[in-house]
Amino acid sequence: MLFCSDIPPLRAWRAQVRRASQRVALVPTMGALHQGHLALVGLARQLADRVVLSVFVNPLQFGPAEDLARYPRDLDRDRRLADESGVDLLFAPAEEAMYPPGSEIRVHGGATAARWEGAVRPGHFDGVLTVVTKLFHLVEPEVAVFGQKDIQQATLIRRLARDFDLPVAIAVGPTVREADGLALSSRNAYLSPAGRREGLGLIQALRAAARRWSEGEHRADRLAAVLQETLAGFPGLTPDYIAIVDPERFEPVTEARVGTIVALAARVGSTRLIDNHILGTELP
Ligand code: AMP
Repeated sequence: MLFCSDIPPLRAWRAQVRRASQRVALVPTMGALHQGHLALVGLARQLADRVVLSVFVNPLQFGPAEDLARYPRDLDRDRRLADESGVDLLFAPAEEAMYPPGSEIRVHGGATAARWEGAVRPGHFDGVLTVVTKLFHLVEPEVAVFGQKDIQQATLIRRLARDFDLPVAIAVGPTVREADGLALSSRNAYLSPAGRREGLGLIQALRAAARRWSEGEHRADRLAAVLQETLAGFPGLTPDYIAIVDPERFEPVTEARVGTIVALAARVGSTRLIDNHILGTELP
């Protein structure tokens, strides 16, 4: 596996891969790699000849009161895991390589980026869209792979590619979970054993709503009540939002159909957890 912390060697590698007519898949991450990230690498390997994994804790997508400084970082471990999982090139740029002094142009999301995660975390998606645009220009992947766990993000990146005519296909891999259903997240490392038990409220709520929906309850307000009741059984969990929305614009729906997204965010102490379910799909 090649390791690049700067842009010129990445560009040189890309030019060589292009000459060999090989397809490249990109998996962008903020590191602290877990099985969720590695599953995306597995999917990327199926979709292209060469896989680039990026590890960059992007300061632009963190709000001033968020966890940028304490976000878990372990590049040596990430490097080993990436190598073992068949990554061809690990791109882990320094902040100055991505945002040299004077860099000021930003990609600004629209209405979809202002809802839910965007409402709770103002500016978050502009930071994500800006860094992903840069990564797409640097790596020039034929396909980029994102996780369903961050479903609003994946949707916005699809829109980014479409609205800016970027020649990249967007693939979305399913959420990888612990045996008890907790969605893997780098932020789970912040949870105490008691906090982790509270975190299970999200999957429990999604399961309860999915069950009620498959029994025939399609009214979104009633499903929202089921989610709320389940979350209320986890007193250590403070919900940020309960969203039952269409998969394109993330606007609230009144009738929940196949493909409608149920998305949740909640805090356990200062740790934010998110999860979601697409109605009509499997939920373990
Ligand atoms: P992050 O490092 O948290 O920015 O995530 C990098 C990528 O991994 C994003 O596309 C996430 O949606 C995806 N991801 C994070 N957690 C999971 C998970 N549990 N299962 C699948 N993909 C995930």
